Amino acid sequence: MVKNLSKKFVLEKKEKLEKEREQTILQIAELRKGDPFSDPDHASDNAAVDTDVREQVGHETVEAEIKDLEKRLEYIGVALKRMKKGDYGVCEKCNDSIPTARLDLIPEALYCIECEKKLRK
Ligand SMILES: [Zn+2]
Repeated sequence: MVKNLSKKFVLEKKEKLEKEREQTILQIAELRKGDPFSDPDHASDNAAVDTDVREQVGHETVEAEIKDLEKRLEYIGVALKRMKKGDYGVCEKCNDSIPTARLDLIPEALYCIECEKKLRK
């Protein structure tokens, strides 16, 4: 049984998601700036090997963080699209409604807790 979420609730989550989307985009831009590989001097410097290793590790960490944020951005985008369609808060897998307490915590959640657990395995 899918219960209908109140318009107010959905609107609140929409505002939250839109804010989060902006912040996430900014965060990605900041991370890209901080990536040692985006340093214009990188290719030309004769850095010692240990510097190169450090830059490599830094680059990979930044890449992993960016990937996480981009994934989040994707979820946020899907959640916003579903709000437009009117099926926000419905689990994508089992079509059950996602508890509002969960949406309060993770407004971009696309699955109910049970399905999320199964997906993580
Ligand atoms: Zn589910």
